[in-house]
Amino acid sequence: MNLVYYSRCILESIVTSKNTRNNIFSRRLDFINSVSVNNLQCKHFFFDIDDTLNTNKAGLNLEICKLLNKFAQKGDVVLLTNCSKKRKENHLSNLQKFQCSAQLWEVGKKPNYNWLNSKLIEKGWISNDCAFFGDRLSMDIWMAYKANIKERILVEGYTKQSTFGLIHLIRKIEAWLIL
Ligand SMILES: [Mg+2]
Repeated sequence: MNLVYYSRCILESIVTSKNTRNNIFSRRLDFINSVSVNNLQCKHFFFDIDDTLNTNKAGLNLEICKLLNKFAQKGDVVLLTNCSKKRKENHLSNLQKFQCSAQLWEVGKKPNYNWLNSKLIEKGWISNDCAFFGDRLSMDIWMAYKANIKERILVEGYTKQSTFGLIHLIRKIEAWLIL
């Protein structure tokens, strides 16, 4: 992730939220398992991993893989994360172990919305058929907003649960500035 680019995204997301008075997310959820898969009229589903599908750094387990497979019955399931190479290998091994149909795309690309747009074009996917689940407003949700993704679902439960660590502090500041 390019830090200059990311800093610009943080600023852009704050300024946009303040100027438009609109939420950059389209729905909000406490936890991912409270989602109603059938309520989303989408064909392609994107998920952040940490603090969206599970607590930070906990990774993918059988329960999460079963949920992702429910989405896979409706369309494509893509995982987008900025994790390390080692954790990427761990995610790939868990996807295989729990027979999960989700794809893990290139790591470290968030919040590069131009990259996401080019990937959608490459796949022939229409942004209006896509949903994106994430916990970070200036990372996941901003990327989805700028790529015109129809459903941008903010998942807040894991962030609210934990009050420790730098990343949680950043999230709380983001929520305070953007929401
Ligand atoms: Mg996250």
